[in-house]
Amino acid sequence: MGYDVPHWIDGHEENGGGSTQPIMNPATGAQVGTLQLGDESTVDRAVQIAADAQKAWAKVSLAGRTQIFYRMRELMIEHTDEIAQVISREHGKTFGDAKGEIARGLETLEFATSITQDLKGGFSQNVSTGVDAHTLRQPLGVVVGITPFNFPAMVPFWMHPVAIATGNAFILKPSERDPSASNIVARLYQEAGLPAGVFQVVHGGKTVVDALSTHEGVSAVSFVGSTPIAMHVHATASAAGKRVQALGGANNHAVIMPDANLEFAAAQVASGAFGSAGERCMAVPVAVTVGDAHEAFMTAITAEAKKLVVGPGDDPTTDMPPVITPEARERVIRMTDEAEQAGATIVVDGRGLVVKGFEKGNFVGPTVITDLAADHPTYTEEVFGPVLVVMHVNNFDEAIDLVNSSRFGNGTAIFTDSGHYARRFEDEIQVGMIGINVPIPTPVGYYSFGGWNDSLFGEHHAHGPEGVSFYTRQKAVTTRWPAQNETVEASMSFPTHD
Ligand code: NAD
Repeated sequence: MGYDVPHWIDGHEENGGGSTQPIMNPATGAQVGTLQLGDESTVDRAVQIAADAQKAWAKVSLAGRTQIFYRMRELMIEHTDEIAQVISREHGKTFGDAKGEIARGLETLEFATSITQDLKGGFSQNVSTGVDAHTLRQPLGVVVGITPFNFPAMVPFWMHPVAIATGNAFILKPSERDPSASNIVARLYQEAGLPAGVFQVVHGGKTVVDALSTHEGVSAVSFVGSTPIAMHVHATASAAGKRVQALGGANNHAVIMPDANLEFAAAQVASGAFGSAGERCMAVPVAVTVGDAHEAFMTAITAEAKKLVVGPGDDPTTDMPPVITPEARERVIRMTDEAEQAGATIVVDGRGLVVKGFEKGNFVGPTVITDLAADHPTYTEEVFGPVLVVMHVNNFDEAIDLVNSSRFGNGTAIFTDSGHYARRFEDEIQVGMIGINVPIPTPVGYYSFGGWNDSLFGEHHAHGPEGVSFYTRQKAVTTRWPAQNETVEASMSFPTHD
């Protein structure tokens, strides 16, 4: 039904695996396409092809590689609307939001155009008499990316430009929910001149993920998705001897200090909580009001939530789109019900929302909850929907303790006019990415992205300098060029420097 989405292997589309899965439009609830699901043999074929392609690719000069990335950047800009439309149809997010994620993904591609700088090694002359030392970084081989539904362009772009620019072959396993953008990117890489087999796409679910994570031809696995699957992939791939970075879920808190510009803070928190229906790993599902900030912030955030227009992503008047599946919608409603049953106040209630003409869509309205206990799952767990829980504390220290008690540690923000509290926040908070009066502090492409605690398993953050480090390994070379007539006594002592 609708269009067909096959794998992209060895420079062309092909079927493989035998089974399929429907691709749905979250706004209409209707099937729009059919996805081919791979199996172990699809993975095996892709890995063999990648291994062959990588050997030749690693020999391509840095100048040759970067020229391809420059061309790819132009092609991505030219095709932004086409990719954004596909994302909006399969993910549900607004057209403008889809264009935004493509633009943020391009930052990493731009970073890859200057890989010449990042692959420079170190050199020391005369570390010992007549002896020099230098380092170089080399690719790992075949590396894999497994990505979530919520950023079908940007999150894969955190991985493949850096992996490929450093000389690896990359196999992408995108989300089954919105797979088409990845095939367009594969086609554009080919048009940009990337040799067949260096970037491939294998579609599928657990079978494909497990096969990629354990295949002996794969050297490293980058994963982004929910915490339970991140833990599974980290454990499985690590046990199989792979280098692994597995980015998991989040429950990001924004702390609202009484000295903050509260209107500004409420507008920023609203965009963090309800943008893309809260389905962002850097969403802001929790606001922590400190002392006197509570009342004024509640008034402002209620007004912000109530004015949002909920509708399909391809309607230019839409502020907030549907969530991804009927199950996701039901989870949001159930977690709101459970909070209410536990005595919370539902200040803005999105449960009953129906969008006219889209009655079968996965719509749920913006929801604001307060008076919820700090051990309730609607606060402690990731809702991943348009729900903002407002927690109230008495002072800054209590706010720090509350944020640090979360098992996640992806992003956090503080809204304040005080440099003193901003500086203390940055120092004392146990979270990987911090915003000072910035609600979604997603680092630019030339920095690296990553959380702490249950938001990231493994040592390396994604993209930027940490990406270069993840996708390469270092050699340290010690060099001596004795004169042809130079003689030396054999020494049994461990060499020291003179
Ligand atoms: P998900 O964990 O369900 O899926 C992620 C990937 O894992 C997909 O490619 C999927 O096919 C695969 N997968 C699913 N179940 C699997 C299983 N049992 N075994 C092996 N593989 C499996 O995540 P999602 O629902 O697609 O995405 C939303 C989640 O991703 C949220 O938790 C969100 O916070 C998180 N996320 C985190 C970041 C980050 O940077 N930390 C970024 C984006 C999204």
